[in-house]
Amino acid sequence: MGITLRNVVLTYPDGDARMRALDDVDFTAERGRLTAVTGPSGSGKSSLLAVAGLLTAPDSGLVVLDGTDVTESTRAQRTTLRRERLGFVFQQSNLLPSLTATEQLLAITHLRGERVRVHRDRARTLLTDLGLGGHLDKRPHQLSGGQRQRVAIARGLMNDPAVLLVDEPTSALDEDRSRRVVALLADLAHDRNVAVVMVTHDLGQLDLVDDCHEMHSGRLTSGFPTRL
Ligand code: ADP
Ligand code: MG
Repeated sequence: MGITLRNVVLTYPDGDARMRALDDVDFTAERGRLTAVTGPSGSGKSSLLAVAGLLTAPDSGLVVLDGTDVTESTRAQRTTLRRERLGFVFQQSNLLPSLTATEQLLAITHLRGERVRVHRDRARTLLTDLGLGGHLDKRPHQLSGGQRQRVAIARGLMNDPAVLLVDEPTSALDEDRSRRVVALLADLAHDRNVAVVMVTHDLGQLDLVDDCHEMHSGRLTSGFPTRL
């Protein structure tokens, strides 16, 4: 259970031709594990997340979410799957400047017209679980970079996703805070049975992850880099 890509090819226009951002990629991230994807800039890591996150349909290959082949799903079905089954945390935490930490988590659920009080309780519990119990009503400018990233992670967990996709969560953080964010992602994967997929440049934290893959020019190799 988790997310699987099989023989996935994704191309982008490149002048008169097309370039392969994902070149026959096989990838699995299991629930209950933190899976890292490393590799140089431009190698296709964000493209992999976009396909795994059902944001981009591949040219060919299969995408399987918790055992269900979702490759042929319509755009509307993918939107529903994303909302109900997937969580996203991006490089910049993308918090709205005017909202408190709690409101950041509710901003998405408001759109769904569901009961606010239940969601407010869940938002507060999640933030507290992530060590932000003293910051529920703070706005982004009142939080540190690490705290903002934890708010974004809490927001990604609001819908209790099967898969949490995290793109370069530590790129704006110092060594110490980076390590704490990666340790937190590992704990969340283990404790909540989520498949956490983390794209990272940060090889120094790979001892905290369960599985590792390396991307080069659109091709994925599995296993930890030997230089660790
Ligand atoms: P990474 O996240 O590893 O830096 P990306 O997945 O963002 O890599 O990009 C992989 C390749 O695809 C790069 O060569 C990039 O320039 C290209 N690319 C990414 N997105 C697009 C797009 N929307 N249109 C055209 N080319 C793209
Ligand atoms: Mg990227």
